[in-house]
Order: sequence, then structure tokens, then C-alpha cells
Amino acid sequence: MTDIDWNDYALETQAIRAGQRRTAECEHSDPIFATSSFVFSSAAEAAARFSGAQPGNIYSRFTNPTVRTFEERLAALEGGERCIATASGMAAIASAAFGLLKAGDHVVCSRGVFGNTTLLFQNILGKFAVSTTFVDLTDYAAWEAALRPETRLLFLETPSNPLTEVADIHRLATLAHDHGALLAVDNCFCTPVLQKPLALGADIVIHSATKYLDGQGRCLGGAIVGADALLEKQIYPFTRTGGPAMSPFNAWVFLKGLETLALRMKAHSENALALATWLESQSWVERVHYPGLASHPQHELALRQQAAGGGIVSFAVEGGQDAAWRLIDATRMLSITANLGDTKTTVTHPATTTHSRLSEAERAAAGIGAGLIRMAVGLENLEDIKNDLRRAFPG
Ligand SMILES: *Cc1c(COP(=O)(O)O)cnc(C)c1O
Repeated sequence: MTDIDWNDYALETQAIRAGQRRTAECEHSDPIFATSSFVFSSAAEAAARFSGAQPGNIYSRFTNPTVRTFEERLAALEGGERCIATASGMAAIASAAFGLLKAGDHVVCSRGVFGNTTLLFQNILGKFAVSTTFVDLTDYAAWEAALRPETRLLFLETPSNPLTEVADIHRLATLAHDHGALLAVDNCFCTPVLQKPLALGADIVIHSATKYLDGQGRCLGGAIVGADALLEKQIYPFTRTGGPAMSPFNAWVFLKGLETLALRMKAHSENALALATWLESQSWVERVHYPGLASHPQHELALRQQAAGGGIVSFAVEGGQDAAWRLIDATRMLSITANLGDTKTTVTHPATTTHSRLSEAERAAAGIGAGLIRMAVGLENLEDIKNDLRRAFPG
């Protein structure tokens, strides 16, 4: 079964079957290889495995069959040659950074990335003499102006969190390549069902599998996808030695998640678009941010680059923090949590949670007002979600 070329199959099929392998027991669901190491038939075979002369498993920090199935499935979905799974999304970003960068290198990173990504580049990599310039996601002149001879990596998320700004991946990939740099795209919000950054020119795709790939908020995991040569030569040496490996059990949970990914991303996007459209018509809502709305500043680009808008909707209520907290506290069903990518709808107040460490001026510059609410729209019935949001503003 491993001799099937999954690139010949459609995305829905890849999500269910790519990478599948069966043991002699002929099990139908994927087996969980809960083992730290693998046994050799002889001392000579052990030596051959360690030298690389004979391919095969040695130790689960290097390779594990359940994790390998997840890696092959996600690589097929993203249209990449190779995938390396990691223990979390941040482990994927850290591994890509430590694998690709060395002292003296420079990074240009979007200001609108996940908070820990900002801290990783700014504080942790800063200690190793890797410097980072942060720019506005959609300010292409700023991306270009930030480039230096030693710039090695451009890093972005699109759509951004929480304002769902959309950047032109092809344009920034071209800019990176013209300057001898690589482009990495965190594809957490869209997943390969809605957006394929490698086909648009990106060199590396990053995932937090914790979000939509799992889809039900159970496990932490992450992944790096890209060309075999790049991952094998530059990133695998770090993950094999540095040890941020994904657990086989988590890989199995993600495999189950991937089987429904195509259906879920379509359903999340439908619910989110309907909710965003409804929110725009409410008198107590000042502004709605969703790539699928005609009012979104990069709506045209989103239509070209993404198959649908995804599940994240942000909106500002009139009355600042008091009104935003009143709305959140009046909900009964929605989950007040910063997590996203779950079948359960989540609601959060960025200014006092995910973005609370920014100064008020920094938040204002980033467009994150006191009345802003971010929702990760789940798969509950739309009327029930609306009813929960209406409780604080009846009529
Ligand atoms: C959650 C998240 C991460 C980090 O993933 P973890 O699995 O929590 O480490 C990275 N990028 C984005 C866009 C995320 O939402």
C-alpha cells in the first residue's frame, strides 16, 4: 500500500488514506506503535541501521511508524515532498528556526503572528544572534525595506490572528526568492483544505496540529512540510538531535482528525460566513473582520488564494471592554477559551488575554481595540450560536 503515489488522488481521499500502512494483522484503522525503540535481528543489522546503509526504524525520537503515517498524509495534503511532525506547533516553528538559521542571520516576520512565535524570534533566537524585523503583514513596501543581505527567512501567517488580514503568499515568496531567502507560512487557520502555500511559492509550511488538524481540542502537535532536500539536510538533523518528537498516540489522534478535515473545514467556513454576515447586520456591532465578507479589505485576494474563509471571525462591539466582557459573560454555551480549531465554538477577548502583554499603544497600532471579540466558529447549530451572542444585547 505504501507504493501508491498519493499525489494522484484528490484531497478528500488523501486526507483519509495517504500514508496508510497495515501490519500482518490486517487491521483496518491505523495501528498505534507505542514503542520507544525497535529491535534488530542481529548486531550487523543494528550497525547497518545506525550507519544508514539499511533504512528502517531505530528509535522513536528519529522515526515512528504511526508518526510517519501522519507525516506522509499531511505531506500529501500540502503537496510537499516531506513532513516532519513535532510535539506542538511551537516545536515546529522552533525546529524550523534552529534548523535553518545560524548566528548573524536575519528574519523578517509579520507583526500579526501567534504571540509565542513573536517571543521565539525576538527573545529566544535573539540570544543566539539571530535578529528579526517585524513588519505589518499587508505592507509589501515594509517587507521589502526590511530585507538585508543576511536575511535568510520571511515568516508569516495568513489569515492573521485576530483580524484575519490576508497576505499575498505568491508575492512574498517571489520577494523572498529574489533576495535569496526562504518563505515560511504558518497554515494553521486555513489548513491545506483551504490554502496550499507551497503551490503559491512558499518553501515551508508550518502547522499547529493542535488546532484544525485534530479538530476536537484533544492533543498538542505540530508539523513542518517542504522539499525533501531542505528538510532532510537542515531541519531533520535538529529534530533528531534536539528531540521535539510527536508522540505516536497524538499522531494517531491527528490521523483520525485528518479523515474528517475536508468536511469540517467546509462546515466551519459555512457557519463562520453565515455568522459574520449576521453580525454585520446587528446594530450593536461596529465592525466585522472575516475574509469571506465583501467588506474585508483583502476580500478579492482571499477569494483567489483560499477556497473559503475559514472558521475565525472577529468583531468589535460598541462600548469597549465593558460591552465586550458583558457579551462574553452572558453566553451560556460558548467556550470562553483562547483555543481555536475545535468543533466547539470558542470566544475570547484579545485585548485582555492573547494580546494583553502589548501596551495600549501597541494594541491600537495593531488594530486590536478594547471592544474586539475573536470567535473560532465551531460546528454547533448556527441559531444556537447567534442566540448565545444575543443574550447581552436583546432586541
Ligand atoms: C496555536 C498556534 C501555534 C502554536 O501551536 P501549539 O500547538 O500551541 O504550540 C502556532 N501558530 C498558530 C497560528 C497558532 O494558532
